[in-house]
Amino acid sequence: MIRTPVLIVGAGPVGLALALELAWHGTRSIVVEQDAGTGLVLLAKASTLNERTMEFCRRWGLRDAVAAAGFPAEMPRDVVFCTALNGFLLGRQPMACARDRRPPTGTPEILRKCPQFRFDPLLAEAVRATGLVELRYATRCESLEQDEDGVSVVLANLAAGGMTRVRAEYVVGCDGAGSHVRGALGIDFPGYRLGPSVSAMVRIPDLGRYHGFGPAERYMFVGSSGTSASLNAVDGVDLWRFTLLGSAGADVRESDLQAALHRAIGRDDVPIELLRLMYWRRSQCHAERYRQGRVFLAGDAAHTASPSGAHGLNTGLGDVFGLAWMLDARLKGWGGAGLLDAHEVERRPVALRNAAASTRNFSNWLDTGETFALLDNSHEGTSERERVGAHMRDAIYEEWHTAGIALGYRYEGSPLIVPDGSAATPDEVSDYVPTARPGHRAPHAWLADGRSMLDLFGHGLVLLGFGADAGETDRLERAAAASGTPLSVVAVDDPEIADLYARRMVLVRPDGHVAWRGDRLDRDPAALFDTVCGRAG
Ligand SMILES: Cc1cc2nc3c(=O)[nH]c(=O)nc-3n(C[C@H](O)[C@H](O)[C@H](O)COP(=O)(O)OP(=O)(O)OC[C@H]3O[C@@H](n4cnc5c(N)ncnc54)[C@H](O)[C@@H]3O)c2cc1C
Repeated sequence: MIRTPVLIVGAGPVGLALALELAWHGTRSIVVEQDAGTGLVLLAKASTLNERTMEFCRRWGLRDAVAAAGFPAEMPRDVVFCTALNGFLLGRQPMACARDRRPPTGTPEILRKCPQFRFDPLLAEAVRATGLVELRYATRCESLEQDEDGVSVVLANLAAGGMTRVRAEYVVGCDGAGSHVRGALGIDFPGYRLGPSVSAMVRIPDLGRYHGFGPAERYMFVGSSGTSASLNAVDGVDLWRFTLLGSAGADVRESDLQAALHRAIGRDDVPIELLRLMYWRRSQCHAERYRQGRVFLAGDAAHTASPSGAHGLNTGLGDVFGLAWMLDARLKGWGGAGLLDAHEVERRPVALRNAAASTRNFSNWLDTGETFALLDNSHEGTSERERVGAHMRDAIYEEWHTAGIALGYRYEGSPLIVPDGSAATPDEVSDYVPTARPGHRAPHAWLADGRSMLDLFGHGLVLLGFGADAGETDRLERAAAASGTPLSVVAVDDPEIADLYARRMVLVRPDGHVAWRGDRLDRDPAALFDTVCGRAG
């Protein structure tokens, strides 16, 4: 019997990120993955890493590696709408390349493009380098059973054969949309099935030679029957994901896809290497619970979203950035039982919000209105093309501008957050309003020494003082010490940052969210820490 504080099922990006963040806090884990390795298959799944995910990468020291592994810095993020690459141009949404992009207000990081088959191996390498994680490939979680003291898990060793038993204090199912862990717990996964989809991963060297619409991250094809397909850059060089929209399912063959791709390009002399077909289901489903006793769900195991928003992986990483400090605090004894309930209370509404935005984007793509005359060389055809181009530009806006989704989520109603009565900032998809209101992510600002405010957070709680009363910070420090709560006090002497944070004292959690703020210590400090650390009640 092997023992571990945390067993993570699934070494996709979410499982790996959880192991990495636990290790950041100094907590050991075992990750089991049924596949033989990470990034073995050139799968065209996630490639958009939003600003928040890049903030996590900043903490883990992976920011530059991700930038280097991602799309070429000079590749624009434009979206082109057309009837075919050699057909009519319907419109274009220009978007800056990484070299010219600036971080939105309130973050030091820009959104980056890095395909999952490169990102996941970077995570796996970083996980190994911590020395605190045992990463077991070719190992499948077969069953789990829990009691008051822990979880007993049976693992199948797929390469060597045989079974291994593990006893974990906590188990986290990061095992994807078809989650075995979720199934074993009997947790329902209701939602919307938005239809089957088929994508092809293709290599097209120098695609730009074969059309005149210029470089873009995505080409979307609309014909006389509406929106039919999209071609998305996978590595920003020569790998592309071609997706048929509509009700394309398992009956689509390789030859159908080749033919559809030639139609989309508008000529058949383009050398295309079809690398892989991917049949997948577009869905918006949510686990009814994220926790049962000592077992948790995170990432696609807990929620799915249509890729039309690029929120799946990013939301999953947000889940485990929050869950890791809670598990760590519980294991080290300073976190109370209430911490573990907060995972679902805090993260489920964020997943619902992000998935709803993704489905809206998908409906907008398809909702072009009549396009019967789109291919006609007539006055009617011209005006229809103008209308559809304008519609598509509007439709894509919230998919391509997501700073609000990435940075503006907040943990309203969390039992760990002490509200201060201030009004919530608008929760918009595209626009983010920096705020240090309790429940929100503490915003970035540059410190005089070149660090970001975000670089102050991560180890225990941080009490930021903006001209705070020394007697009151002392009382808070003493209360934290008395309850074994790790707390550091940081005085920030910058009037602009003080304005942004808006109170003399701001208490920030290890995941960078504000737990409490106030100009005066108007409450019992011991009770405050009990609430924030899940020890109350
Ligand atoms: C076409 C497409 C495009 C996308 N684009 C984006 C994007 O740009 N941005 C974005 O944020 N998201 C995007 N997504 C979504 C993103 O890929 C997923 O949200 C993400 O992969 C989820 O990560 P995960 O770790 O939760 O699950 P997964 O990546 O599914 O990983 C789960 C892992 O668990 C393993 N596993 C399963 N069962 C067991 C078991 N019993 N024992 C051991 N191991 C097990 C699996 O082998 C797998 O490796 C896209 C998805 C698709 C399909």
